Amino acid sequence: MDPLYGTLLFFAATIASVVIRAPHANRSKTIKVVRQARPPIDVAVLVAMGVAVLVLPLLYALTPVLAFADHALPAWAFWTGAVVVVLWLWTFHRSHADLGTNWSVTLEVREGHRLVTHGIYARVRHPMYTSLFLNAFAQLLLLANWIAGPAMLVVFTVMFATRLQREERLMHDTFGPEYATYAERTKRLIPGIW
Ligand code: SAH
Repeated sequence: MDPLYGTLLFFAATIASVVIRAPHANRSKTIKVVRQARPPIDVAVLVAMGVAVLVLPLLYALTPVLAFADHALPAWAFWTGAVVVVLWLWTFHRSHADLGTNWSVTLEVREGHRLVTHGIYARVRHPMYTSLFLNAFAQLLLLANWIAGPAMLVVFTVMFATRLQREERLMHDTFGPEYATYAERTKRLIPGIW
């Protein structure tokens, strides 16, 4: 299959994800932050994520610099990628809608921060991270290049590994037994599995 189809679908989905996030990001900005953890590792990983999810895909799509790592795009990869895109955007939308103004890019607690346990958060504790893993798999399947394709999966795995424990500790410290009970009845990323 022409690799251009995969590239176009990936960029269309990326634009859709920006549109989904924009109103939530704007609303959250207006609420005061009362606790924040932003160590250099988090900033470095966020910059790396920007490179992985945007800079490398753009270099692949618009310049020949990554052409040495191009490969063919099998039809199965495109169609599986298309299904993953739907799951990615749906979980991305649901997690933003349910988390509301409690959302933040780095680890933060905001004024009036509420523990969200309803909607998609009733199924898993980190649905937004589930959606970002789906984003990473969509990129791997849709970009026919051995560097731009797996980049987000590699970087997001590092981000997830360096953040999960700290985020759960912050939630435990902020919400105490309420979070403990919530954590007992929910999985992290995949309903019923983990
Ligand atoms: N890990 C979650 C949220 C990502 S946004 C997910 O993947 O869906 C990160 C911020 O969300 C953190 O700073 C934390 O303050 C907040 N947060 C995480 N889980 C939350 C919950 N259940 N209720 C309210 N805020 C939460």
